[in-house]
This record gives sequence, structure tokens and C-alpha cells, in this order.
Amino acid sequence: MSVANSEIRSLTAKKFDCPQKFSDFCSNGGKPLGGIVGGVETAGTMNATFETIDPGNHQVLATVCEMGAAEVNKAVQAAHNAYSNPKTGWRQTPIEEKIALVMKFVELCERDRDVLLACEIFDGGKVSELAEGDFDQIRACAEYFCDVAKRIPLGDGPSLEVAPGVQGYSYREPWGVVAGIIPWNYPIVLTSWFIFPALLSGNCVLIKPAEDTPLSALYMGKLAEEAGFPPGVINVLPGRGELTGQFIAEHPVVRYISFTGSPGVGQHILRTCDRHGTRMKREMGGNGSAIVLADADPIEVARKIGRYTNQHFGQTCCTIHRVFVDQKIADDFIDAQREFFASLKIGYQADAGTELGAVINSTQKERILSAQQQTVTRGGRALLRGGVAEVTGRSGYYLKPALFQTTPEVDCNPAEVFHAFATICPVSDAEQALQLANQSPYGLGASVWTRDIEHGVALAKQFRDGTCQINCHNQIAYGLPYGGQGISGGPGAGVNCEETFTDYTQVKAVYASQYDA
Ligand code: NDP
Repeated sequence: MSVANSEIRSLTAKKFDCPQKFSDFCSNGGKPLGGIVGGVETAGTMNATFETIDPGNHQVLATVCEMGAAEVNKAVQAAHNAYSNPKTGWRQTPIEEKIALVMKFVELCERDRDVLLACEIFDGGKVSELAEGDFDQIRACAEYFCDVAKRIPLGDGPSLEVAPGVQGYSYREPWGVVAGIIPWNYPIVLTSWFIFPALLSGNCVLIKPAEDTPLSALYMGKLAEEAGFPPGVINVLPGRGELTGQFIAEHPVVRYISFTGSPGVGQHILRTCDRHGTRMKREMGGNGSAIVLADADPIEVARKIGRYTNQHFGQTCCTIHRVFVDQKIADDFIDAQREFFASLKIGYQADAGTELGAVINSTQKERILSAQQQTVTRGGRALLRGGVAEVTGRSGYYLKPALFQTTPEVDCNPAEVFHAFATICPVSDAEQALQLANQSPYGLGASVWTRDIEHGVALAKQFRDGTCQINCHNQIAYGLPYGGQGISGGPGAGVNCEETFTDYTQVKAVYASQYDA
């Protein structure tokens, strides 16, 4: 038996103090933070505001104006004008100018790194180690799509003679006005994944941040203005999903929506969009699985899987929530995973050493607690029961990690739970594990853990999931598609690849015949 490698640990917080610039941004000279519509900060006509809070201590960070139908209409109009002006429109702007503006924007984000980190840490409830990694995605994503935009031309494709005297060719153009509907768990990353391919392919954008985490998108909206994006190219519309989001989905001039969030909401928006032909791309939740083969080191792999299970306290779309371990090593694996989970340091996300912080809101808290109970009702045996945790001096929704043992006959973990939560099922062999892993209607991320890479690759390719990994999990890379199968995604090719860029464009066929009157 090997000795536990204490180097393998969960993502951890350094102490993070609130930068003055973040406080100044949040207080906004005593006014609620408005949306950004046509380059102008707007309070909106509904006279409605909401508070965004620090989930770790429930302190109000900022008051934000909610955007209603009038502001959505105005933003769509502003975006359409910014897009379509025949001389100065974003659509016509040469790609070199678009790239220069995008990279200027990235530099401004880097200048104000502390403010954006504060958004992720205080508004999003993240530990600094994860927030810093997320921040780096701004540049990585921008550079990747700048490169793609140079390589994939828009406009006319090569011409063919399709019939005597008839030339045919494809014509690729941006959609025009496109919207990104963003969830609360990775605000900076997912805003970047949306805006860079959308803008560089020539669209003007509406960003609808999650109600729980509106600050980074609003701050990025201000930086975009400072970078010199023409008014209307980037609009930010904070508000509730069922109100602001719904108005966006219902707007017929919005030609394309990029949605990231839960399958239920994604299905609802798709039905709304379908009523007037708005195209949609959906990146949705998962219930990630891991298969641990008999040749793997049970203790080392248990710790690694524990790390991925607890990435952003389990609030990561593709994270591991279902483990299938060969019964020959199951006892050692279970002991090591229980020890890893039980030793997670629960605390405030900006205090040094915290590994497991508060969940984002009371709805999530209730969902997680209910799922923990249902797992037992369905036949799971509690190794760590979960439940509420107390953190001295902090009033956030803190929960303990939960771990359950199950058997192949019992499906006690059917839906995404979104916390440091996993079920472990000992199995007789890899085939049984694969069959159980693939029984889920989700299909976002899965991994195989083995010393035999060739066997691991062969098994991993049989997952139905969009991302299959061997001896790692939660990896992403620009140039490879990140998308879900089953109820986890589609239509659309996923994010972060060339097809993501082309998803933000439409292709027409053009036929030109001789005039034989
Ligand atoms: P939700 O589906 O609840 O919300 C996502 C976004 O949709 C929010 O901005 C929300 O607004 C908005 N929304 C809600 N209702 C409507 C509506 N009727 N019309 C238009 N917009 C609406 O997801 P969560 O925010 O809870 O995020 C967590 C989910 O996201 C998890 O399932 C997670 O796995 C998934 N996810 C998937 C990723 C992937 O790449 N596949 C990446 C990250 C997360 P509001 O906040 O105001 O409710």
C-alpha cells in the first residue's frame, strides 16, 4: 500500500483583502450600479434594484439596477445599430482593429486584476487559487480566438460552377445581435468564453450575468468602454433570469443565444427561442463520473479525485460526483477518499487555508441538503453524511462534504448535486463501470484512472460524455471542444474550438446565373 501524498490537496485560499478600487466600484458614488446599454450606464425604467452579497458572510457588496423590457429593447437596438452601420458598423470593422480592441481590453483587465479577482472571490465565493486560474483565462481565451479569427475568413467562399452559366458559393457572416446568458459559478471565465468568439466573428453582444454574480460583467463592461469599443458593441443587462433573461430570449432581433447553466433552464430557453427562430448554443450541467481500475494507486487517486470533486466546492459543471472503483482496491480507496473529504478545511473563502467555502445562495443550500437525504433514501450508505457546518463569525451557507457508498443495483445519485458530494460504487470490472457511468442522462465530463494508458484511452473513448480524460479531470484547452452530450449540451459544437467561432456566424449559399432574358 502506498502512503498518502499530502501534496495532492484541494484548491486553497490565500488571505485576500478587499482592494479599495473594488469598494469604490461597488459603492458607485452612492448610486446603484446600472446596466450598460449603448455605452451608457443606465438605472433602467423599472426602478427596481437587487443586492448582490458575499456568500461567505452575507454582507451586501453592491446594489444593482434590474434591466426590464425597455432596457432589453434599447440594448438590442443599440447593438443592432452598432453592428449594421454600413460605414462604421462593427460588422465592417477590419479584423486587425477588432483584435487591437480585444487585446487592449485584456490589458485593462490585467491592470485591474485585483478588482476582477475581488469580484470572483467576494461576489462569487471562490478561493484565490481558483480565482487566479480563472482570471488567466481572459488572456488565454482572447489570444486563442484572435488567432482563430485571423485564420477563418468571413465573406465569400470559393466559387464553383454548379450548372452551365450558374456560379455558386457560400457566404459567411455574423448573426448580428447575440446574447450570452451566464451562470454564477464561473462568471469571468464564461463571460470571456462568450464575448471573445462572438465579438471577433463580428457580432455585437448582450451579456446577461447571473443575478448572484453581476459584478465582474459590469466591471468588464466599463473596461470595454475604456478600451474604446464603440457604444452598443458590448451591453450588460443585469437582472433576474425569468425577467431580464426571458425578455432577451423572447426578442426576435436577437439572432443567437449562448446559454450556460442548468439543463432545465436551457430547455426552457430553447423552446422560447424556437418560437421565433433564434438559434442557440447550450452548455449545461453534468454529473461527472470517474472509473478507477484495479492497477491504480487507491490512495493517490482517491486524493486526486477528491481535489476535482471539490473544485469550487463541487460547483463546477464537469466535476466528479460518481465514482466506480474496482472492488479489489475499493476498501483502501474509500478510506482515503473519506479521509480527504473529512479533512477539507471549511471556512470563509478569503481567509488563508480555506478549502471549502459557503455555497452561493439558500436555494442551493436546500437543494444540496435535500439531495444528501435522498441519496440515503435511495439506498446509499453514508460515509460522510454532509449537513450544515458552522464557521465562527461568518453567516454564510456552509455545508459539510458528503460521501456515500452504493452498489451497482442502486442508482442513488441521478442528478447534479453541485457540492463536495460523491457516491462511490465498487464494481467487478471496467465494463460494468462503463455501463453504469453511461446510464446517466448527463454527458459532460468523465475520466478513467489507471497505469495502463492504452487501456484507459480505449475505455475513455466509450464514455458518452463530451470530455473524456485519463488520469486527470476538469482539464480544458483552447483548440479542443468543450461541450456536453445528452442533457448536458447542444445544439452547437461546444466552446473553445474553431467551431465555436463559426457557431457565431451563419452560412448562406449564393447562386448567380447569367441573365438570359
Ligand atoms: P441556471 O440555469 O439557474 O441559470 C443560468 C443563467 O440563466 C442565469 O443567468 C439565470 O439568471 C438565467 N436564467 C434563468 N431563467 C431564465 C429564463 N427563463 N430565461 C433566460 N435566462 C434565464 O444555472 P445556475 O446559474 O444555477 O448555474 C449552475 C448550472 O450551470 C449548473 O447546472 C452547472 O453545471 C451549469 N454550468 C455548465 C457549464 C458548462 O460549460 N457546461 C459551465 C458552468 C456551469 P439568474 O441567475 O437570475 O437566475
